Amino acid sequence: MRTLVVGAGISGLFIAYELVQHGLRDVTVVDASYPGSGATLRNLGCFRTSFTSPEHVVLLKESIRRWLQLKDRLDFEITQKGYLWVARRPETLEGFKKLVEFHHQFGVPTRILSLDEVKEVEPRLNTKIVAGAMFDPTAGKMPIIENFVKLYIEVKKLGVKVVPYTKVTKLVSRGSKIAAAETSRGTIEADVFVVAAAGDSRDIIATAGVDVPIVDIPRHPYVTEPYAKTINPALIIDWDTPGSPHMTQTKLGSFILARDLEDVPRAPLHSERVDAIPHILKPLKELLPFLSRVNIVRYWMGYYDMTPDHHPIYGPVAPYENLYIAAGFSGHGMMMAPVTGKLIASWILDGKPYIDIASNLTLERFRVGRLVKELAVIG
Ligand SMILES: Cc1cc2nc3c(=O)[nH]c(=O)nc-3n(C[C@H](O)[C@H](O)[C@H](O)COP(=O)(O)OP(=O)(O)OC[C@H]3O[C@@H](n4cnc5c(N)ncnc54)[C@H](O)[C@@H]3O)c2cc1C
Repeated sequence: MRTLVVGAGISGLFIAYELVQHGLRDVTVVDASYPGSGATLRNLGCFRTSFTSPEHVVLLKESIRRWLQLKDRLDFEITQKGYLWVARRPETLEGFKKLVEFHHQFGVPTRILSLDEVKEVEPRLNTKIVAGAMFDPTAGKMPIIENFVKLYIEVKKLGVKVVPYTKVTKLVSRGSKIAAAETSRGTIEADVFVVAAAGDSRDIIATAGVDVPIVDIPRHPYVTEPYAKTINPALIIDWDTPGSPHMTQTKLGSFILARDLEDVPRAPLHSERVDAIPHILKPLKELLPFLSRVNIVRYWMGYYDMTPDHHPIYGPVAPYENLYIAAGFSGHGMMMAPVTGKLIASWILDGKPYIDIASNLTLERFRVGRLVKELAVIG
């Protein structure tokens, strides 16, 4: 069976990896640019299970299990230092308590921290302005370039053809099937087509007459000079400030600071947003006063491929029998990639997802109005 995967980001490569693990031999991945050039090499590399929908909690629990399982086999670098969700207001802490009960139903061991416990987890946090925190010990981070390159080398070793600078311009249908993909470098025929091209999946699948509700929303992480190891958790989130400012520290010492900002969908990736720096720094400096002495040296842009309910779109694309999608990760596609790969492989090979709850996330949900809900879009 010939499979064509469109998009050589982390999702496309994990889909190819799983298909080959399941015995498929003829798997090609094409990319309009170089592998990883989309959101993948622009992300923070953080992961967590502390979501607010059953779909996300169940799938992320499995995805993190899979990242850790593959850690030794593929020599991935992964650390699990937890996420610290900071509540400034007592009402927020009450909300966190309900969230912890929800997580425990799924065996996810989040917990509420008193101010003394917050100090133990992160001694530099200014607890004078904080009511408490939620801690997710399952969460962590990884260096994205290293892990992506290791996966890329592995899929190539397994015989997957990865073809860069080949843009899919049109899906050609014949009856209930997609027969071929027209690309900037000729036509590719295949038996199965998987579109894993983030926000561009919308344009690609539109050529086969199907609407996919994904919008690319710009994100702007700001990077500081490198410092000695300073913060303990993988990510610290100021949940009570609009836009949820958050920060992490890379293994080379730079802090990365980010928050949700209003921006124009698909704004060019070189758009300048230095105006946002004070809006990110002010709340984070209140929580971590040492930040007033750090120097921001650069920033980059990338898109969150957002769906209306902030969950990915997985699985078959009706009315076609051989077209699948994995896109719309709404800021969480790096952490979801291992489960994405296995889900799409099971849909293709067994006709259904190997985890039932994933069937709530097909494209069909928008047609019938059965949206799911996620309140915590961070990273
Ligand atoms: C600033 C930022 C921070 C983030 N932080 C996190 C985080 O901490 N944790 C987390 O889990 N996620 C995070 N994300 C989200 C994560 O990066 C994405 O969800 C994930 O990388 C999606 O991977 P993908 O392979 O689906 O898409 P992409 O990496 O975008 O890959 C899609 C590929 O498709 C290719 N393509 C597009 N159109 C075509 C075409 N017509 N033909 C052929 N190829 C095409 C592109 O060139 C691209 O390489 C973050 C994202 C951003 C922008």
